[in-house]
Amino acid sequence: MKKIAVIGAGVMGRGIAYTAALHNFDVILQDINESALQNAQTQMQADLNKSIQKGFAEETDRELLERISYTTSLEEAGTNADLVIEAVLEDMALKIDVFKRLDEICPSHTILATNTSTMSPTEIGAQTKRAHQTIAMHFFNPVPRMKLVEIVRGLDTSDETYESVKQAALQMGKEVVEVNEFPGFVTSRMNCLIGNEAMNMLMEGVASAEDIDKALKLGLNHPMGPLELADLVGLDSRLRNMQYLYETLGEKYRPCPLLIKYVKAGRLGRKSGQGFYNYNK
Ligand code: NAD
Repeated sequence: MKKIAVIGAGVMGRGIAYTAALHNFDVILQDINESALQNAQTQMQADLNKSIQKGFAEETDRELLERISYTTSLEEAGTNADLVIEAVLEDMALKIDVFKRLDEICPSHTILATNTSTMSPTEIGAQTKRAHQTIAMHFFNPVPRMKLVEIVRGLDTSDETYESVKQAALQMGKEVVEVNEFPGFVTSRMNCLIGNEAMNMLMEGVASAEDIDKALKLGLNHPMGPLELADLVGLDSRLRNMQYLYETLGEKYRPCPLLIKYVKAGRLGRKSGQGFYNYNK
């Protein structure tokens, strides 16, 4: 596997493209939005500069990053790909539309992977003629630094497909876990529940955001507090995840009203400058 197409150049897509390029894959990054591609390129260069300064990356990595190509055309992205990793918004109808088109465009050997946080690779794969070559590769934010890829097999995913994406993830310097499909997999199901409980506590006045996060970091040894983590993920993305888990798994996952209120107000976390914390100060 040499050529990877990444679909969607947001927070996750650009992180996946960056990591794949620095581990010697040929990468093409696609987005419908030209400005998202430009932002991604700028951000990746800034990330690499920082990593070189800190000694986590080499000067020679600049060349690898420059080899990423950018396009707004799904045809151009899919035509030569061995593996496509989709990272568009967490919306089932949108993902299915992208996969159906990729199924027409890509060569017969191409594996189609989704970076969904919660949704069903079986449902997505069933809309294509290659359910056996459809799988979820769930990366974590920030992709270059987070070690895990949760690989989620759909009902019809073949062993060959699983092995190929496992090898690709290992080549990207990641560790993998193998998960059989169920809404929210292992990590999102657990993380959404903890985050939602923290939001409910904040809403009930149990403690301040700072103290809830501090309690989990220092008392329970979490590397990040659940509210600062939600701000990093993006509160709109988190709300979509909660809504999907609520629909599929029931009452326990009802999104906290405070989360809904914040999203309505445009407080989306770090990316908008304000969420549970204010980043404009
Ligand atoms: P984002 O909003 O940062 O980026 C989404 C990008 O997709 C945007 O640039 C948008 O222009 C693009 N897009 C929309 N429709 C498109 C289309 N039809 N074709 C091509 N590009 C299109 O979102 P994100 O946070 O990067 O999340 C992407 C996926 O990764 C979601 O499924 C999300 O659940 C999952 N995920 C997110 C995180 C996280 O921490 N943010 C972690 C793991 C997984």
